[in-house]
Amino acid sequence: MKTHALSAEVLRGEGLTSQRARDRLVTKLREDGIKDLRVLEAIRRLPRHVFIDEAMASRAYENTALPIGHGQTISQPWVVARMTEALIERGVPQRVLEIGTGSGYQAAVLATLVPEIHTVERIEELLRSARRRFRQLGFENLRSKHDDGHLGWPSEAPFNAIILTAAGEGIPQQLFDQLAPGGVLVAPVGPSGAQTLLRLHLDAEGELVSENLGDVSFVPMLGGMV
Ligand code: SAH
Repeated sequence: MKTHALSAEVLRGEGLTSQRARDRLVTKLREDGIKDLRVLEAIRRLPRHVFIDEAMASRAYENTALPIGHGQTISQPWVVARMTEALIERGVPQRVLEIGTGSGYQAAVLATLVPEIHTVERIEELLRSARRRFRQLGFENLRSKHDDGHLGWPSEAPFNAIILTAAGEGIPQQLFDQLAPGGVLVAPVGPSGAQTLLRLHLDAEGELVSENLGDVSFVPMLGGMV
């Protein structure tokens, strides 16, 4: 099989994709309230320009969502940072499940911070591109699967944390069923234009605790696979 090794030059980036551009993005994220130094360092090190089309690479370090094809977007860096922060705040989870691989950027940020990450995507072509990037960047703690994320990944459950990067009207029961005791779930919930980011966990009495982390705008969680 052909290997798609990225040259050191491409990985490093230049001009608007250089380390300086990443440093400026991190400064902006700090100004906008991201505090966790582990998250900021992961974003400082990971080349986001590798996760989007070359034609748009010069915009990779703007704090904005960008199209990745198939009507989908790579999430805004601030949102990736906030969700990652929310996920690891109470301790770094051992095993994480992500629903909505997309470009693979959020999964890769997590893969630099947690021991094991599993990610599920319903659009095969997006998943194929994401997998190529994971290989190019040398991640070995990242597994991915082409499936409808409503089902989670039962054979690999339970997970200590679950993150959804597409918004549904609610959270599928199957995902709760795959959360380990003490686990945390972070997800955008609600219809387009009125979504909130929620963090859910079970307290010591087994009661579901929900925290509202603010307004967000995500693509919808859809059913089936393509
Ligand atoms: N985490 C991604 C965000 C991509 S946008 C990134 O960092 O780039 C959300 C993704 O969720 C899209 O790729 C979309 O195809 C996917 N998605 C939507 N519904 C899904 C479902 N039911 N199962 C799996 N993936 C889904």
